Amino acid sequence: LMGYVGFANLPNQVHRKSVRKGFQFTAMVVGESGLGKSTLINTLFNTKLYPGKEVPAPSAERPKTVAIESISADIEENGVRLRLTVVDTPGFGDFVNNDDSWKPIVENIEARFDAYLEQENRVNRLKIVDNRVHACLYFIQPTGHSLKPIDIEFMRRLHTKVNLIPVIAKADTMTEEEIRDFKARILSDIAYHNIHIYEAPTYENEDEEALAEAEEIASKIPFAIVGSDNVVDTPDGRQVRGRAYPWGVIEVDNEDHCDFVKLRQMLIRTYMEELREHTNSVLYENWRSGKLLGMGI
Ligand code: GDP
Ligand code: MG
Repeated sequence: LMGYVGFANLPNQVHRKSVRKGFQFTAMVVGESGLGKSTLINTLFNTKLYPGKEVPAPSAERPKTVAIESISADIEENGVRLRLTVVDTPGFGDFVNNDDSWKPIVENIEARFDAYLEQENRVNRLKIVDNRVHACLYFIQPTGHSLKPIDIEFMRRLHTKVNLIPVIAKADTMTEEEIRDFKARILSDIAYHNIHIYEAPTYENEDEEALAEAEEIASKIPFAIVGSDNVVDTPDGRQVRGRAYPWGVIEVDNEDHCDFVKLRQMLIRTYMEELREHTNSVLYENWRSGKLLGMGI
């Protein structure tokens, strides 16, 4: 039923401890409608987290605000339990006036911090549920130009509250060269606006292989993503997850075709624990101390 994800093979010693009890990981996807958010989540966890119920509403009935939905799944792998939650934000950027479309998303992230703080302040702290957002995938439209004002505004509002991971949506619509140039432009825009995206840590005592893996992952950011729910036939007779075109097949799981494998590796395998740790000890802690200062404590 549930496809193999790979989180149970996390190399980290620290991790194995928390893993025995089971653990929670929450990812958020943000981006304009139609950029492939729901499809990517399906692809990522190799399952239909999003049941096929989506009946498009007539445009007159479109919600007037950004709706936040969250979907959870319990996954067990090699005896390790993971409660995976995906927070979707349909409608972001869809409105005539998008000036405040970041707001409900910030409020949602802060409400999760609040809920965690409230549990920490309880006398009985044994059963703390961690619903904080550990990673936010921000979908960039594959325009080939630069970031749009709404992208910059969103990332500036969010970067101190969540691990921000930019991705180029629908990368199969661009050539390899276009992707390379677009990545460079996105990164320089991000640097110019002092936006902090999540940076994979490199430890001094890490072995060469782990270091190479970290550098390989870092070199792909922003990840060029292709998602697909479908299995298609390649010209040489293989069956792959991908998207078929008259000129050939783009394979989701082929690292020569897109960065999907690297993104999954970063999220689920290499940095899941680091993303959780950074959320707790830096992002949440900053927010908490700011809040306590504001209350005069
Ligand atoms: P969402 O509104 O962001 O959740 O987007 P969906 O996941 O619903 O996808 C919108 C449409 O784009 C669907 O027709 C998908 O099949 C298609 N789509 C999703 N991912 C990709 C992709 O990587 N490449 C291309 N070309 N189309 C995609
Ligand atoms: Mg969707």
